[in-house]
Formats: sequence, C-alpha cells, structure tokens
Amino acid sequence: MAILDIVTFPEPSLKKVSVPVETIDDELKTLIEDMGETMFHDAGVGLAAPQVGINRRVIVYDPHAGEEQKDAEDKTFTALINPEILSKSKETFTSEKEGCLSVVDYRADVRRHASVTVRAMTIDGETIEFDAHELMSVIMQHEIDHLDGILFIDRISALKRAMYTKKRLKQLKNKK
Ligand SMILES: [Zn+2]
Repeated sequence: MAILDIVTFPEPSLKKVSVPVETIDDELKTLIEDMGETMFHDAGVGLAAPQVGINRRVIVYDPHAGEEQKDAEDKTFTALINPEILSKSKETFTSEKEGCLSVVDYRADVRRHASVTVRAMTIDGETIEFDAHELMSVIMQHEIDHLDGILFIDRISALKRAMYTKKRLKQLKNKK
C-alpha cells in the first residue's frame, strides 16, 4: 500500500474526462487500495482516480462519512468502478462548506441534488444500484463530477471561482 500524491487545481489533467475501466485486474485493485489509504491519510471523505493522476473512472469514499458516532478506528472504504448517476431529485439543497483535496485551502457552499440514484460496479465485478441522500448524495455528485473533469468550484459563481483562482495562483507563485 502507498500514499499517493494528490493532483491539485489548476493541474489540467483534473479537467479531463476519464475513461471507463474495462477489466478489474491486480493493477486496478492496487490503485483502489492506495486511493483508500490516501483518502483516510488526507482526512477526505471521497477520492476520485483523476485526483491521483489516473484518468480512469474509479472512486472511493468513506461509507461512514458524517456519522456522529464514527469509530475512529474504522478505516473501511467503498470503491465504485464506472459509477454513473441514473437519476437526480428535483429537490436541491446547499452543501455547506464543501471542500476537495484537489482544491487547496478553499471551501464553498454548493447547490446539490438532495438525492441521486447511482449505478456502479463493485471491485468484485458486481453491478449495484443504490440511492444516496444528503451527505452521501453530495459525495456521489462531487466524486462522479471528477470523472467528467468537473470540480466543485465549477459549480459556484464565476466571481467566487475567479477570486479563488487568483488566490491559488498567487500561492503557487510564492512557493517557487
Ligand atoms: Zn474533490
């Protein structure tokens, strides 16, 4: 297992549409294990393969995200291969202070569908379908967006995005 480097905005590969996974092989399983480990290491609740520089349609997430009685030792994650959103509720809500490991030092409120129906393949090659609500719904929309080259800052106002972009470019410049 290994902790992977996170690709951060404005890296162009984050804007790429990822390709579907065709076979579940050992390489993919290793990637998934490493993604799970990286997500918990960096205190994330979800991580998409493009965030570790692999433009393939794979996500991992913490199925216990947001639970109040969360067991700190519980580091089990769930992986979804080729996930897709089959339907979205008309009802929307605002996810408060949404963040992303690829969008450094920034959080924003984002308008999200209250629930979504997801279809995906498990690591065992089984096709599953489920409904996700509230925080889980946000995680699904956020992570599946990554596979289509979309970041949460693409879903906020152009003004806020421009302000963040400016701040981020300055931050990167100062690092050099
Ligand atoms: Zn993200």
